[in-house]
Amino acid sequence: MHLCWFKFHIPRHAFILWLAIKGRLRTMDRMYDHEGPRICNLCSLEDETHEHLFFNCRFSHEVWAWLTSKHQTPWPNYRWPDLIQWGAVTYKSKSLFPSLVARLTLAASVYCIWMERNQRVFKATYRSARRTAEEAHEVLRTYLLGLNIPEAIQDNWFVP
Ligand SMILES: [Zn+2]
Repeated sequence: MHLCWFKFHIPRHAFILWLAIKGRLRTMDRMYDHEGPRICNLCSLEDETHEHLFFNCRFSHEVWAWLTSKHQTPWPNYRWPDLIQWGAVTYKSKSLFPSLVARLTLAASVYCIWMERNQRVFKATYRSARRTAEEAHEVLRTYLLGLNIPEAIQDNWFVP
């Protein structure tokens, strides 16, 4: 699926995005089926499902909104998986730099939300949505600068 595996994708981000698209992450509803805790660890308001985590959850939405705003990536305000469908069509053949950034932003968002969720579930450590987004941004910024693509160096999207 080209939304995950494209030139310059980040493997660990792409893999988690791929699992998320397939609905294969071990979310609470999948871990416990009909019994046990299912509440979302990021917002404590609703049950944790793929649909909720990406990006209906208040926490996730804040991460997503901050990153897409920071990177000026034009993602519509669709629900998962309509968003994925839209991205798969929109970014099918584009190799332009903004398209690369948009796809990297999606994968990085899903990855950092899932990692923060795991930190809370398994390690009981907590970061704010803003902090989570900032760290994802820093990873992307460093990565893109390392590619030595002229646009990444010229563009002011990647100031810290
Ligand atoms: Zn939530």
